[in-house]
Amino acid sequence: MKILFITSELYPLVKTGGLADVAGSLPQALRDLDQDVRVLLPAYGKIKEHLPTAAPIAEMHLLGQPTRLLAANAPGSDIPLWLLDAPKWFDRPGNPYLQHDGTPWHDNDERFGALCWAGVHLALNQAGLDWQPDIVHCNDWQSGLVPALLSLRDERPATVFTIHNLAYQGVFPKSSLSKLELPADLWTPEGLEFHDQLSFIKGGLVFSDRINTVSPTYAREIQTPRFGCGLEGLLRHRSGRLSGILNGIDTDKWNPENDRLIPQNYDAKSLDKKSVNKRALQERFGLPIEEKILMAFIGRLVPQKGIDLILKALPTLLEHPFQMVFLGSGSSDYEHSLVYWSRRHPDQVAVHIGYDEALSHLVEAGADMFLMPSKFEPCGLNQMFSQRYGTVPIVHRTGGLADTVEDAIPPQLKKATGISFDLTEAGALLEALKRAWLLYERPAAWRQLQRSAMAKDFSWHRSAREYCKLYQQALADNHP
Ligand code: ADP
Repeated sequence: MKILFITSELYPLVKTGGLADVAGSLPQALRDLDQDVRVLLPAYGKIKEHLPTAAPIAEMHLLGQPTRLLAANAPGSDIPLWLLDAPKWFDRPGNPYLQHDGTPWHDNDERFGALCWAGVHLALNQAGLDWQPDIVHCNDWQSGLVPALLSLRDERPATVFTIHNLAYQGVFPKSSLSKLELPADLWTPEGLEFHDQLSFIKGGLVFSDRINTVSPTYAREIQTPRFGCGLEGLLRHRSGRLSGILNGIDTDKWNPENDRLIPQNYDAKSLDKKSVNKRALQERFGLPIEEKILMAFIGRLVPQKGIDLILKALPTLLEHPFQMVFLGSGSSDYEHSLVYWSRRHPDQVAVHIGYDEALSHLVEAGADMFLMPSKFEPCGLNQMFSQRYGTVPIVHRTGGLADTVEDAIPPQLKKATGISFDLTEAGALLEALKRAWLLYERPAAWRQLQRSAMAKDFSWHRSAREYCKLYQQALADNHP
């Protein structure tokens, strides 16, 4: 199949969340299955600096602006990367969506409207490149208008839309409709209108041949009011076309056998060696080198991640022989609270505020347990990294956490890879930790848990095969 993959971020060039990881890995995994994948990404200023050899291959007039398409290869791969070069919209420093003060760029409608129009021209082979995709794979609201615009064409490729996080929807004033040269026919409640505003994400949800999200459980959850962000009715209506495919992880980069970012490599047969990493982690975070259970958290410090549960559970936890390390940044309230606890209990709590990828490897390798009490989690990566490193995840049973962690409850203790809890309450987290502690006290049972976790297949190959099936379904839906 010829696949045009449209994304607004791609690891390692530009990343704000999980979409970047997917865009950085899935195209290559599809290529490994002999698919012909090309990726379309905005040419943010920083990217052009990283890829100075990117060369112009086409010109397009989009929303009254002359733009160019630059060709390069995605870093570390031979996947053709097409960069939409429009300095007026993309030559800006910092975050791709937000200005320095954290508010969205004022012209995000035009910026990503232009990306969508570029996607449409490429999808219809109108950019002079002599390449027509069979499938256009759009991701999140930034490419949501593509399926809507293509739906107006008789001869069009099949479309797939992936939801990486439903909380971000790309909603703009009604006036954007004409500014983005969108046909008035699309302005209906069954189309792009959302409470009298223009919704980019609805373009993907209403008009794609197939919709998917990044875990089967999240695909079910978003059809309910609690997780649906106001779109649950539409998602229920399209449930026959909606599915979930778990993300993979980069199993080369995240491999305790040869990870160069940790002091001691190990595998499932040499788990004793993991204690060298534990000591290094305690040392790095200034904790006393003791036999206490070492728990870790890595992630954005935002309400989604359930930090409030951890903060509520901390006073009880600290009465027991636990140590905790936190690596993250985000809301200043959470940052201050964690720093407060680390100052009050320097022997048990340590915090590193900031984003530090190298340090995250040491945390995964050194900790005994990994906490992920997220309120919702479309897929989540850290619980998969943890399992690969024999670091037992303790998770709220939601979204991708529910799909990737096998809870240690009888009679399935042999298959278990972690501990799950159901209620988003500190008491439920503490209960789960108690179960984990009891298991930890039984070395043979704990080893079994670690080994089962390390044996799980989180590779992109498995996901890529499922995406190929999804593309086939989209093709069949487009030409029944
Ligand atoms: P989300 O996309 O909601 O932020 P995921 O678990 O899907 O959550 O992915 C987050 C990615 O970012 C993971 O690779 C995680 O390890 C990484 N990450 C988040 N915060 C930090 C941090 N402070 N330092 C290093 N890595 C981090």
